[in-house]
Amino acid sequence: MFKKDGQLIVIALGGNAFLQKGEKGTVEEQWKNVYVAAKEIVGLIKRGYKVVVTHGNGPQVGNVMEWIEALKDKIPPLTMDIAGAMTQGWIGYMLQQAIQNVLIEEGLDHHYRAVTLINQVIVKKDDPAWNNPTKYVGPYYYNEEEIEKLKKERGWVIKPDPRGGYRRVVASPDVVDNVEKEAIKLLYENDFIVIASGGGGIPVVADEIGRLEGREAVIDKDLGGQLLASVVDADIFIILTDVEGAYINYGKPDQKLLKELKVSEAKKLLEQGIFGAGSMGPKVKAAIRFAEKTGKPAYIGHLYKLQDILEGKSGTKILPD
Ligand code: ADP
Ligand code: MG
Repeated sequence: MFKKDGQLIVIALGGNAFLQKGEKGTVEEQWKNVYVAAKEIVGLIKRGYKVVVTHGNGPQVGNVMEWIEALKDKIPPLTMDIAGAMTQGWIGYMLQQAIQNVLIEEGLDHHYRAVTLINQVIVKKDDPAWNNPTKYVGPYYYNEEEIEKLKKERGWVIKPDPRGGYRRVVASPDVVDNVEKEAIKLLYENDFIVIASGGGGIPVVADEIGRLEGREAVIDKDLGGQLLASVVDADIFIILTDVEGAYINYGKPDQKLLKELKVSEAKKLLEQGIFGAGSMGPKVKAAIRFAEKTGKPAYIGHLYKLQDILEGKSGTKILPD
């Protein structure tokens, strides 16, 4: 059983846990990648940690949106919140089975189980992000008539994509609360490895009496991950990705890994814009928020170096001031 005093780690898995650069994304490739992540996660269990896992869904939700639009004349289209729920099921299923199988191989399955939760995250009805949608989603359009029809009939905002053509854009609002947080706590306290808040969580808004309704939006998985980590009382938040951590002069010959940063130092660097806007930036921002809100450390590092990150041999550690 989990050690009573075992610390809780929330792990946020990046895209490379499912799809490596240069891969097509076949089912075989996905399983191969998921097993690598599952072994890392079970490694934490062996060291006495409790673990809650979250993950991104960018490429997967992109695929689902493409399928929906490609078949829209045959099957009525679904909304993005439903597409998000589908990816939580897809990726959650794979992680849950892989973790369970690794637990069996390690002889740990009598004590631990893995389970996935369909998980909603509350966003504000009046978030300023609604007035400025920035995230490109779904297929590319080139035909003006079709674009006008989509705007009129489906109320979409469509903008030229810098990569060419036109695409739908949706908002990326801030996160307020994790709806299923009590269930996640109950599960991890009872020896479940919980997979939650996939793709940052399914965006929903709440009315005056708390009834929920889905919204078509993209939640940043690092932002949703830090919310998850703080509402389930994580001791440590770790964002795993495909680089060693946050660098100064990233990609240049003199790039340097930032090994340890206080929140105030990290904020200054973030303001200087040295971290990629849609990539490393949100990770540093999420790590800052977690450390600031909880007084506990957050780490950013490479998926394959999880144990080294915890031993301080790899990754970027962000600490409260
Ligand atoms: P994930 O799927 O894990 O969220 P992202 O592609 O969103 O992955 O973010 C990781 C990427 O951030 C790295 O592969 C790297 O190319 C990019 N990046 C941008 N700026 C930096 C920086 N200053 N230090 C490290 N990586 C950076
Ligand atoms: Mg990312």
